[in-house]
Amino acid sequence: MLSQLPPGPGVYLFYGHNRLPLYVGKSIRLRDRVRDHFRRARHDHKAMRMVEQIQHIEWEETAGDLGAQLREAQLVKSLLPIMNRQLRKQRDLTTWHWPAGATRPQLLSGAALNQPTAGGFFGLYRNASSAKEALRELAEAHQLCSQVLGLEAGKGRCFGSQIGKCRGACCGSETISDHTQRAQAALQPLQVNTWPWPGRIAIKESTPGHNAAAWHVINQWCYLGSAATLAAAKKLDAASASFDIDSYRILQRFLRQPDEHGLSIKPL
Ligand SMILES: [Zn+2]
Repeated sequence: MLSQLPPGPGVYLFYGHNRLPLYVGKSIRLRDRVRDHFRRARHDHKAMRMVEQIQHIEWEETAGDLGAQLREAQLVKSLLPIMNRQLRKQRDLTTWHWPAGATRPQLLSGAALNQPTAGGFFGLYRNASSAKEALRELAEAHQLCSQVLGLEAGKGRCFGSQIGKCRGACCGSETISDHTQRAQAALQPLQVNTWPWPGRIAIKESTPGHNAAAWHVINQWCYLGSAATLAAAKKLDAASASFDIDSYRILQRFLRQPDEHGLSIKPL
C-alpha cells in the first residue's frame, strides 16, 4: 500500500481491527509522511504502538495544503479517531456565547464548541478562568454588573453598584434589557465569527506540479466541501452552515494572505 501512495498533498486514514479509526493526518507530501510513521516506529515506542494496530490505510488527494487541512479537521470530527491528540487539545478551548433572549453570556468549551451552534461567539480562550477574567475586565470598563453577568454570586444590589462600578442592573437602576444591550455592545469587538462576505464563497486552490485544482466552499467559517469545478462547487448546499472552530482557525491562517498560498476567493 505504501508504494501506491501519491507524493503530493492529501489526508490519510489509519484503521485498526473492525475498521476502528485510529488516526487521521494530513500532509503536503502524503507518501513521505505516511512512511515516516513506519520509520519512526523502529525507535519510537509511541509510534510503534500505533503502527502495530494498523490493519488498513486509506487516503484522499487534495488540491493543496488548505484542502488537506480542511478535510483533516472534518474527518477528525466525524470519525473521532482514538489517537488524534488534536481532540484533547480542543477540550479546554473556551468562548463566550450569548444565546438569543438570554440576559448573560454562557461559557462554551470542548465538545460544545465542536458542535454547530447558532449565534455569536466572543473571544477564544485557553480555559474558563481566562475567559472569565476577560469578561470581568470588560464589565469594569463598561460599568456592567458582574452579578447579572453571572461572574459573581448574590442577589439584589451588588457591591460594585455601591462604589460606582456598576450602573445598577442588579437593583433596578438600569433595566436588564439596557444592560444586555450594553454588554453585547462591549463584547462586539471580540466577536470571532464575523463573516465578511454576503454568502458562500469558493476558494480556488492549486499547487504547482501536484493534483488538479479544487474549489473549497465555505459559509460562515463552515467548510461545506470541495469540488473540481466552480459549477459543481455552486451546488454544495449551504443549509447546514454554522460556525466551526477548526475551519475558522485554518481559514484565518490561510486567508490573511491568499496569494501567498496560491488561493483566489470567489463569492458565490
Ligand atoms: Zn450590580
